[in-house]
This record gives sequence, structure tokens and C-alpha cells, in this order.
Amino acid sequence: MTNSKIRVITTINELRKLRQQYNIADETLGFVPTMGYLHDGHLSLISKSLAENDHTIISIFVNPSQFAPGEDLDSYPRDLEHDLQVLSTLDKSIDAVFCPTVTEMYPTGITLDVTQQRGAFVSVLGVSEQLEGKTRPNFFRGVATVVTKLFNAVRPDTAYFGQKDIQQTVVIRKMVEDLLMGINIKIVETKRAESGLALSSRNKYLDEDIKRQSVAIYKGLSLSKELYLNGETDVKKLQNTIVDSIKNANDKFKIDYVSFNDPETLDYLDQVDKSKGCIVSLAVYVPNSNIEEKGTTRLIDNMIFNPTI
Ligand code: AMP
Repeated sequence: MTNSKIRVITTINELRKLRQQYNIADETLGFVPTMGYLHDGHLSLISKSLAENDHTIISIFVNPSQFAPGEDLDSYPRDLEHDLQVLSTLDKSIDAVFCPTVTEMYPTGITLDVTQQRGAFVSVLGVSEQLEGKTRPNFFRGVATVVTKLFNAVRPDTAYFGQKDIQQTVVIRKMVEDLLMGINIKIVETKRAESGLALSSRNKYLDEDIKRQSVAIYKGLSLSKELYLNGETDVKKLQNTIVDSIKNANDKFKIDYVSFNDPETLDYLDQVDKSKGCIVSLAVYVPNSNIEEKGTTRLIDNMIFNPTI
């Protein structure tokens, strides 16, 4: 059953009216942007915002401009009833869920074909091209654009993002700094299932067998971290541990990348500098089922290897 106490706002006008009711001098507003199909990972960001602010607004918007033609924009899970139900399990209630239409967010219109796009977009150069940006070249342009629009509409004091999408946190921090946005950005650690699998709305595509085998991603990352903590700094060796773990789990798992990058510049590393540590991130295509042909899902995960000296 829907918890009708949660206010759902669909227009920017109504959102601005709500925002105007807050006392800007004394009260803080926390904001959590999401694409919905909420799970405990989203809830950990929302709980943090509720604990740290007088007001909390979240958004649910499946942003077309971060999807390339052929990606899962149409099939991405959308279920507001489910989301309101998940939100109703929180101890404290949020002020509102902002669920705008595509037209509300893109008054000029939006097509997935970047060569045909018109209007204003935000690019964060230097940190958007590596890792996820290699496979999804316009992804972070879409993310930075929609987050800017949402920040302009909501005008939060603090916005919360998950470490699960680690490159996104680097892109957003850089954008806020370079465009003088004056918004605090807080990063919340990745919430995992008991098995270790990182929670994700896209896990909905996977059957139980694949979910069980996908735990090899977390296991590989953990084993590699253990090696690093025991003194190994050679990226090839650290990388192979992860690759082997994933390949041994299911030979249909296809690794897109397993990369070791500088935590600030995202430069690719051959050796980990123990005084700086690194970000280890990966993407793997897994079949949605071992039995039937049900398509594939691209899972991402990461771990931060902290400096050891
Ligand atoms: P999404 O709805 O997938 O766009 O995610 C919305 C926000 O929730 C992003 O900042 C994500 O990084 C964050 N998030 C997604 N999954 C998790 C997770 N398992 N743990 C922590 N944060 C997450």
C-alpha cells in the first residue's frame, strides 16, 4: 500500500514553492537524486540526509540524456508505488519526492542522438572520458547536465551520492567546484547484500543463480585489496586476482574493464603509489539467466584502496 503521507511533486513550479517555505538562513536542505526503483543503497543516502538536515527532498527521474541509443532507457525499472512503499519504511519522513516528466526537465526536448541534441549541456572534461566514459562516451555529460538542472530546481545545501558510482562522485565534485555551485557533496559508502553483491536497481534483471555467481565481483575486489594490504603494488598482479575470480564464477561473464586509477585525476596506473592509494573499478556484462536467453546486464562495482604509508 502506498504511504499517502509522502508528498509527490511533479512540476518545478511546485518544487520552488515548497523551497520558498524554508528559512534559508537557519534551515538546511539535503537532496538525494535517484533514478528510482529504490533499494537499501538509496535508503542509506536518504537516511544520512534526514539525519544531517532540517529538510530532505529526493528526486526520481530516469534521465534520457545519460543513456545511449540501444541502452536500457525503455526497460529501466520504473515503479513509483514500489518506491513510495520503500520510502515509507524510513523512521523519519522526507519532505517530498520530485518526479518530473521529461518535458519538465528538458523544455527544449531531448533525443538520444547527441548530434541532434539542442540546448544547454554540461561537460566535465578530464574525468569523464576514462572508465565508464570509455564504454559510455556521453554518459557523464548526461549525468552532469541532469544534476545541474536538479540542483537549480532544488537548490540544496548538501547533496548525497553513492560510492557505488565512484566516477560519478569525482565528476560531480569537479563540476560543483569548477562551476562555483556552492553545494556540499557527500559520498556514502556502497551498500551490499549480505553476500557482498553491491545493491543496484539493475539487479532486478538477474535471476537468483546469476546473483549468486556475481558475488565473485566483490570477492575478487576483496582478494585484490588483501594482496595490496600485504604489500603488492603491481597492478597486473592485483588486476589478475579480480579477473580470475570473475572468470571462474561463470565463463559467460564478460569483463568490460578492471582498472586501477589515481583517486583524484583518474589517471590509469601500472603501479599503486602506497602513499596515495587508488580507485579499483570494474564493469562486467553478466547474462540475466543461465537457463534462458534473457539478455545481459552490465554490473559495476569498485573499491577504494587507501594509502598504506
Ligand atoms: P541511481 O538511482 O542508481 O541513479 O542511484 C542514485 C544514487 O544512489 C547514486 O548516488 C548512487 O551512487 C547511489 N547508490 C546506488 N546504489 C547504491 C548502493 N548500493 N550503495 C550506496 N549508494 C548507492
